[in-house]
Amino acid sequence: MIDSHVHLNREEFAGAQAEVLQRARSAGVTAFLNVGYDLASSTESISLAESHADILATVGIHPHDATLLADADGRPVPEIEDILARLRDLAKHPRVVAIGEIGLDFYRDLSPRPAQRAALKLQLAMAEDLQLPVVFHIRDAWTETLAMIDEFGVPTCGGILHSFSGNEDSVEWARERGFYLGIGGPITYKNSRLDFLVALAGIEMILLETDAPWLPPVPHRGQRNESSYLVHTRAKVASVLGMTENEVDIQTTKNFRRLFAGGPLVS
Ligand SMILES: [Zn+2]
Repeated sequence: MIDSHVHLNREEFAGAQAEVLQRARSAGVTAFLNVGYDLASSTESISLAESHADILATVGIHPHDATLLADADGRPVPEIEDILARLRDLAKHPRVVAIGEIGLDFYRDLSPRPAQRAALKLQLAMAEDLQLPVVFHIRDAWTETLAMIDEFGVPTCGGILHSFSGNEDSVEWARERGFYLGIGGPITYKNSRLDFLVALAGIEMILLETDAPWLPPVPHRGQRNESSYLVHTRAKVASVLGMTENEVDIQTTKNFRRLFAGGPLVS
């Protein structure tokens, strides 16, 4: 299995990183994509990827932190050239395989929406310029985000709709553009529609992820999530699709490798 979205740099893992990685490897996790969400976490993702052969990194500014790049009216902040230059330098690191997580989050609205839109647009352009795939974070903003991606340019190198929570239309939108759906703990939750949407999508569009330390699958709700719990998400995906867990591993690993074929491949 590959954990295609994890935040091992978070303070929730302080002092426990080595054992968390070990438990995940013992559970069959062969690679981790550690996702950045601001400059510090992007830098930490790269450090992790430099010191572990099975960790890859992404760099990006999360919609929660969009005010790093733009103000409440969506205008560039005075120091924008410096921040974009730093982000671009990080993105050029050989262990970085994608830009992300970027997108729109109208659920928590931690940054003003015009700032979120500006940050998304700027980073979509950077991904295209550097020819990198994109990890998208979209929450309660599916219609607008997908329209923005179409307007400003579907990434040539593809993308992941992380922690997928769209509907049937977004599944078809992703299929037509060759995007992958990041499926994690929420598929195990009661009343989730993800089982139905994963069946609609088919295994060729699925990547497994934890989003750890957040979104733990059943039976670990209420606890800190970690990559070894990916087995519960895999079991659910396998049962929804009528596949064996081994078949889910093989196909989702193939999907991950196809998306990131341009980067440093991990075993
Ligand atoms: Zn995340």
